[in-house]
Amino acid sequence: MSMQSLLDRAADGGRISPEEALELYVHAPFHALGRAADHRRRELYGADAHIATYIIDRNINYTNVCTTACKFCAFYRAPHHAEGWTRSYDELVERSREAVELGATQIMLQGGHNPDFGIEWYEGAFGAIKGAYPQLTLHSLGASEVVHIGRVSGLPHDEVIRRLHAAGLDSFAGAGAEILTERPRHEIAPLKETGATWLSVMETAHGLGVQSTATFMMGTGETNAERIEHLTMIRDVQDRTGGFRSFIPWTYQPENNHLKGRTQATTLEYLRLVAVARLFFDNVRHLQGSWLTTGKEVGQVTLNIGADDLGSVMLEENVVSSAGARHRTNRGELIHLIRTAGRTPAQRDTLYRHLVVHTDPAADPVDDGVVSHFSSTALSLTPA
Ligand code: SF4
Repeated sequence: MSMQSLLDRAADGGRISPEEALELYVHAPFHALGRAADHRRRELYGADAHIATYIIDRNINYTNVCTTACKFCAFYRAPHHAEGWTRSYDELVERSREAVELGATQIMLQGGHNPDFGIEWYEGAFGAIKGAYPQLTLHSLGASEVVHIGRVSGLPHDEVIRRLHAAGLDSFAGAGAEILTERPRHEIAPLKETGATWLSVMETAHGLGVQSTATFMMGTGETNAERIEHLTMIRDVQDRTGGFRSFIPWTYQPENNHLKGRTQATTLEYLRLVAVARLFFDNVRHLQGSWLTTGKEVGQVTLNIGADDLGSVMLEENVVSSAGARHRTNRGELIHLIRTAGRTPAQRDTLYRHLVVHTDPAADPVDDGVVSHFSSTALSLTPA
């Protein structure tokens, strides 16, 4: 089959094999690849294809103490390290209050694998936040935390998921996926659960009615074939569960960690991956472009090669920024980026429902205090 026939078939929604995805990723002319992905996105969204979304949320980190010691991670500290910390329930609730006042609809609780935190700690944390702000969606933790909690508390994964859900967890974040392919995953995170286990926990969660996203941290030394294998592993599970709401690729940030000498994925490699992901994932509806790790203009480009969402304003983020991500934004700028990419901006919720469609540019918010805060700038918000 010629390259153009393959692009046409993929653009029209025909399923492509992993081998064909690799062929497109490595050899397809960039503009033709992007055009095909954009065509697919337009077909998927129909009357809503003119819209691109963002969300207002806050990543609240509850502890940086972690026993998993991923080599790429600049955030964690080993148990008993002088720079280790944990947040109290009161602090979590206070940070949630600040987020609510700034219009956040979602909280993403993320933290290290603290050996002192079993299921009861998480139940207490979710209960405290949901008790104070039941309107917040807790899109938090991930498969790695389920494995960790199961180990600390001596519980099977399905029981951990049931109890977290009952305590207030609405859905799992796709964090911890890193790269699921065995060889590179073992190289960068030898103590983390395998990619197969990560997927099996997600499959269990989906079966129990807890949906999730799926992520990909690219650029830690994996081959092109291993990148496509990561996509394939997710698509195979999605065929059975339908529980992955979106796919979120981003690039590894190389500062302050133990993966010395590794390079980030280039911008072109990242953009090609976004386009191929749109064509490959005929069963995952949403695709998020990352402005945080690749820059705002690159995020804008993703909207023209298959992405339908630019993610969060990120009222707080401390993990990826610890490893060198320097990009910042605010709601007005995110809306401007979407609008000048030729799309109508819309604020969404965790389920990708449109909360506010910004049809009138004259009414776009300016300096409304909905601004990114990162570990290198501030840990505590001062609402404007
Ligand atoms: S990425 Fe997560 S699990 Fe790995 S060391 Fe950092 S905090 Fe721990």
